[in-house]
Amino acid sequence: MAERPRGAARAVAASGGALALGGATRVAAVFGDPVEHSLSPAMHNAAYAALGMDRVYAAFHVTPPMLAAAVRALPALGIVGVNLTVPHKERALRMVAKLSAEARMLGAVNCIVCIVNRPASLYGDNTDARGLERDLVGLGVALKGATAVVIGAGGAAASAVVACLRCGAGEVAIANRTPARAAALMRRLRARLPRALSGAALSVRGLEALADPALLERAAIVINATPMGLTSAGFVRVEYARTRRECFFYDLIYAARPTAFLRPAIALGRRAADGAGMLVNQGELAFELFNGVAPPPGVMRRALWERLGRADPRL
Ligand code: NAP
Repeated sequence: MAERPRGAARAVAASGGALALGGATRVAAVFGDPVEHSLSPAMHNAAYAALGMDRVYAAFHVTPPMLAAAVRALPALGIVGVNLTVPHKERALRMVAKLSAEARMLGAVNCIVCIVNRPASLYGDNTDARGLERDLVGLGVALKGATAVVIGAGGAAASAVVACLRCGAGEVAIANRTPARAAALMRRLRARLPRALSGAALSVRGLEALADPALLERAAIVINATPMGLTSAGFVRVEYARTRRECFFYDLIYAARPTAFLRPAIALGRRAADGAGMLVNQGELAFELFNGVAPPPGVMRRALWERLGRADPRL
């Protein structure tokens, strides 16, 4: 699908590995609104520099009314692929010629792969669930037959539910502010989940479920897949103390410091991680889709950790 890199190492200037753009430089990008905060350019450009590829990854501020025009222009502009971030992931489903089964199941596209000069080549995929699954496995979170609680019902929550099921969860409770949206997500997943994942029990609750001792006492993981704590000052009430000591708390939001959702869990001694690892993993998968070659191990993670001001790239 994606073109193979042409092998030129021209892009890496002698001075400090900085990218030197030339007439043959090819572009990958992220579309978002807002997009200035995106850390994807740092991760992807670090991988291009490490591989000596004549490619650059840019952030484009694309507003919702301009998304269709921007997506249509990809093959003509020679752009090899784009990531989509808030608020484009769901709208983009209708803008590509082909969709992966994964994107259809998640109801969202987080990357579009494109063959240059072939207008009907746009292929929409979604690497979020695979990215989170990889992170949970790497963190050693054991979910075989276990109960997972996912907060939220958007595209990120869909990825979290699927990642938990792939890790073997036997029950996933989806807790959302608007239970009707969670019910719609549950229906879509039930209709589209592969047979191997369809045996688990899915249920839908309001956010009051996060104060329900019966649910929290059996939870092996509680995942925040909403922007709560980022866009709002605090977090809805969660009965952290009712969870078992080995319960894992995972926030899809990432930041230099522990998030509002994770702080009380960490204070109680629970294991916790934010979404930086998921971001790296979904980015590595997208890099391979765009460029036909995997990024060197650890390079994208190191670039992100540097941007977040974290000391140890293994964290
Ligand atoms: P989305 O489609 O906009 O979904 C937002 C969800 O959050 C909805 O379920 C919404 O509830 C809920 N919500 C929003 N504000 C809330 C509030 N103040 N109180 C309670 N619930 C609230 O967003 P998304 O694309 O799923 O992304 C969700 C989060 O995941 C974002 O912060 C995003 O940055 C993050 N994310 C991280 C990664 C990563 O790689 N680490 C990848 C993808 C997404 P209603 O249904 O009631 O509106």
